[in-house]
Amino acid sequence: MKRWVGMVLVTVLSGYLTAQDIGYKAAPDAAERETLLLRDFHPKSMLHAQEHPVLRAKFPVFDVHQHVNDAARIEEHMDPKELVARMDKLNIKSIVILTGMWGDKLQHVIDEMVKPYPGRFLVFTQIDWSKIDDPNFSEEMVAQIDDGVRRGARGLKVLKDLGLGVKDKTGKFVTVDDPRLDPVWEECGKLGIPVFIHVTDPEAFFYPVDGQNERYEELINHPDWSFAGPKFPKKIDILEARNRAFAKHPNTRFVALHMGNWPENLDYVGQVLDKYPNSMVEFGAREAELGREPRRAREFFLKYQDRIMFGTDVGPEEAMYQNYFRWLETADEYFDYWDAPGQGRWKIYGMALPDDVLEKVYHLNADKLFANSPKQSPTH
Ligand SMILES: [Zn+2]
Repeated sequence: MKRWVGMVLVTVLSGYLTAQDIGYKAAPDAAERETLLLRDFHPKSMLHAQEHPVLRAKFPVFDVHQHVNDAARIEEHMDPKELVARMDKLNIKSIVILTGMWGDKLQHVIDEMVKPYPGRFLVFTQIDWSKIDDPNFSEEMVAQIDDGVRRGARGLKVLKDLGLGVKDKTGKFVTVDDPRLDPVWEECGKLGIPVFIHVTDPEAFFYPVDGQNERYEELINHPDWSFAGPKFPKKIDILEARNRAFAKHPNTRFVALHMGNWPENLDYVGQVLDKYPNSMVEFGAREAELGREPRRAREFFLKYQDRIMFGTDVGPEEAMYQNYFRWLETADEYFDYWDAPGQGRWKIYGMALPDDVLEKVYHLNADKLFANSPKQSPTH
C-alpha cells in the first residue's frame, strides 16, 4: 500500500517537472528539422466534411474521352461485356474511344467494340504523322479519313504531339495551323465529323521543374512531359495557331479537349468559345484543375452549358466515374480528385450543377454533336 502511494507521487511529480512551457516562438532549430521528404508527406485532413457519394449518375452519361480497348493500346485491355455491365450500373450510356488509329487497327476496334454493342461505343480515327514528309501527305490523310469513316469512325482525334512532337524533314515542329492540314480539317467539315483536338498541356509543364512548380512531383515522375525552355514553342503560341485553324475552317466542328487545353485560364477559354462558334470543350483528366476553383468553374459551366461535354480520359474504373459524378452533382467540400495527388497537392470541391445544366453536360450536348454525323458519305 505504502509502496503504491509512493509510485503515484513519483508519477505526479515527474509529470509536473517535465510539463512543457507553451510558448509563442518557433523553435530556433525548426528549419534544420524540416527535412521530411516530399514523398513521405501524406497529411490526413482533420476536416469533418460531409460526404455524399454518388454511385450512379443522375442522368445518362456520354463519356466523350476514353481510350479503353483502343487501337493504340493506351490502357490495359478489358472484357467488353464486363465494361458494358459496369456502364449500365453507373448509368453510362456511351463511350467514345478516341485513339482508333486507321486501317486494320481501326477495324479491329470497330469489330470488337462498336458493332457488337450498338450505340454504346464510338471510335475515332487519327492522322498518320509518319507520312508528314510525303509530297502528297494531305491527300493521303484525306483518303485515310474517308476510309476510316467508311469503316465506321465518327470523328478525328488529334493528340498533343501536334505542336510539341511532330517535326518534318526541315527539323521544325509542324504547327497546328500548318497549311498541309487544311485539307484534313476541311474534309472533316465536309463529312460532318468533329475534330477532337488536344494541343499543349498543363501550364506548369511549360515552367522549370523546381520547388515552385505546382506539378513538381508529376514532372519528376514523367520528365518527358516537361516542355520548359527554348527547345519548345510557347503554350500560348500553340493555342493561337490552333485558334487560327478554328477560324479558317468555320464549317468544321472542333472540340478543344481537356477544357479547351487551358483550364487554368477559364477567361481565355471563354473568349475562344465566344469567338469560334464552331468550337466546344470537354474536361477529361481536368477534374483536379477545375475542382479547385468550384465557384469560377460553376459560373463557366452555367454560361457555356451548351458547349461543354463530359469526358474522363482515364481507365474506366467505377470509383473514377463516381468521383467525377460527385464533383459535378454535389456541393461536397475538400475531397480528393481521382488519382490524387498525381496532378498536384490540392483538394477539390463539388459544383452542385443544376439539373438542366447537368443533363446537357452529361449527354445532351454530345447527343447533339453526334446526331446526323457523318452527314455525308466519303467520296474518295
Ligand atoms: Zn486522352
